[in-house]
Amino acid sequence: MIFNDELKDIVTYEGGKPIELVVREFGIEPKNVIKLASNENPNGVSPKVVEVVKNSAHLMSQYPDDSMYRLKNGLSKRFEVDTKNIIIGAGSDQVIEFAIRAKANRQKGILTAGVTFAMYEIYAKQIGAKVFKTPSNTHNLEEFYDIYQKNKDKISIIFLCLPNNPLGESLQTKEVYKFIREVDANTLIVIDGAYNEYASFKDKDYAINVKDLINTFSNVLYLGTFSKAYGLGGMRVGYGISNKFIIENLYKLRPPFNITTLSLEAAVEALKDKEFVKFSIQQNFSQMKKYENFAQRNKINFINSYTNFITLLFEEKFNSKEIANILLKKGIIVRDLTSYGLNAIRVTIGKPEQNDKFLEVFRSVL
Ligand SMILES: *Cc1c(COP(=O)(O)O)cnc(C)c1O
Repeated sequence: MIFNDELKDIVTYEGGKPIELVVREFGIEPKNVIKLASNENPNGVSPKVVEVVKNSAHLMSQYPDDSMYRLKNGLSKRFEVDTKNIIIGAGSDQVIEFAIRAKANRQKGILTAGVTFAMYEIYAKQIGAKVFKTPSNTHNLEEFYDIYQKNKDKISIIFLCLPNNPLGESLQTKEVYKFIREVDANTLIVIDGAYNEYASFKDKDYAINVKDLINTFSNVLYLGTFSKAYGLGGMRVGYGISNKFIIENLYKLRPPFNITTLSLEAAVEALKDKEFVKFSIQQNFSQMKKYENFAQRNKINFINSYTNFITLLFEEKFNSKEIANILLKKGIIVRDLTSYGLNAIRVTIGKPEQNDKFLEVFRSVL
């Protein structure tokens, strides 16, 4: 059978390995498996959310409120923007797809950092759009500007993943603003803030104020998700925030009922439990110090991370794929970054006892 040409060039996205796989393949009990591979919140989700979802179980026979009124209302209060500035997606992943289908095509590609969230490239290639990448792996705005200037007529979207997954670096907001000012108003700038809650906590200079961002620029789309700090990865809820005109256009691509009735309930409740999120983020950065100290003591390079993971870069004597495989057999799942062309692993910061266990096993593996 012949498939569309666009598919030839696409490498299927490989998600973090699930706990069940380790249980099945290595016969390790689920409670002894430590998953530090998908940047999930190690504390799970707020107990209040669990309660609400349980109590809402009977609603699963009904379609959700397609206006998503309560969720948009919650987000509108949190970000101090109008509900008309918001679109909800099945994960912010889906909003990435809307943006690409709305602006990119065979003639108009996208521009991203050298190593960044894989879905930008995958969605672009699905519609035959070219992907320009900066030579540097991490975000370097001079390189972004250079490539943009030279290929202006061929670039319709610039993706800034701030902080960046899978490397963890970010940019100061004032640098980002300066960059956006230099870009044409007809070029869409997508700021993927999947880890913005973490960066905002770590350093105010790296915090993105969404209200200010969309009031200052007419060509920016901000993306947020409930999958990371809010602990709702399994519910698939994300959102885009932008000016009304951009949102109206993205809406034309949205399938109806694109998140589930229970996801909607969960997200509405998750927004209310600010303490849970705050605790998780504080714990994240205090635990990250253990990793940084370990790396320094063992002369392993790492990237200063504004997220809930840390990326460890190995020298030639180590092979990240091998290391990830050995860890896997011992019941620890991390993300090998070989497919990104790096000899590195990405480790999600876990709960204190998970991190201690990881570092103990990791030391023995090295
Ligand atoms: C996790 C993540 C997302 C989106 O995740 P969803 O679960 O689809 O909301 C988007 N961008 C980056 C950089 C991420 O790491």
